[in-house]
Amino acid sequence: MRTITTHNTPLSGLRGIGDTSWHTDGVCHGMDPEDADATFFPLPRDHEAIADAKELCAACPVKRECLNFALENVLKEGIWGGLTEAERRPWHDGLPQRLDYSRVIAFFNGRDVHLTGKEQQVVVDHAYARGWRADRLAVALQVSHKHARDLLTQAAHKVFHRDLTLGVPPRKKKRKQSKPATSTPATGQAAQEQPPSHPVQPASAHVPLGKAAA
Ligand code: SF4
Repeated sequence: MRTITTHNTPLSGLRGIGDTSWHTDGVCHGMDPEDADATFFPLPRDHEAIADAKELCAACPVKRECLNFALENVLKEGIWGGLTEAERRPWHDGLPQRLDYSRVIAFFNGRDVHLTGKEQQVVVDHAYARGWRADRLAVALQVSHKHARDLLTQAAHKVFHRDLTLGVPPRKKKRKQSKPATSTPATGQAAQEQPPSHPVQPASAHVPLGKAAA
C-alpha cells in the first residue's frame, strides 16, 4: 500500500512527493508575495538583493528541505535553500546520480518519496532479486506495465552479464517432482478415472501487490 504524505503527517526527515508542509517553518513564510518575488527571484547581477535573500535563508530552519524541494521538482530559477540558480546548477546536474539508501528503504516501506535515477535503478535491481513481477513493480513505481517489464528485463541482463564476467556458475534449474511410479501404466478406462489435477494458481494470486508487502 502506498503511504501518501499529507500536510498532517509529522515531519520524518523524508518528504513525500508534493509535500510542501516544510514551508510553514520557513523564514519567508507569510511574506507579501510581491516582496517574496523581489527577494528570492532577483536579477542575476542584483548582488544587493541576492545578499538579502541569502541572509534570510542562512537563518532558515528548513533550508535543506527547501533546497531538496527545488532539486526534486527541477525548479531552476530563483533562490532556494540559500543557493542561487548558478550555485544550484551542479546540484541539478548531479541529482540523477544521487544515491540515498534511506530513500530506497523508505520506498520499500511504502513511502511516496522522490527517487533519483540511480535510486530507482537500485529499487529495480532489488525488485528483480526479490522476484517481483512486472505488474507489482509497475504499481510501485507508477509506471506502465510494459516499462516495468523492460526494467526487470534490463536487471536480468545485468545480473547475467555480471555472473558471466565473474565466472559465477549458472543456477541449477529445479527439477520437477516426478509422480510416484506405478507398476502398471493407467490406460483406457482406468486412465479416465484418474482424479483431475488441481488447477495451478498463478503466482501473483498469492503475492499481494504493493511495496508494503516486500
Ligand atoms: S531557505 Fe530561504 S527560500 Fe527556502 S524557505 Fe527558507 S527562507 Fe524561504
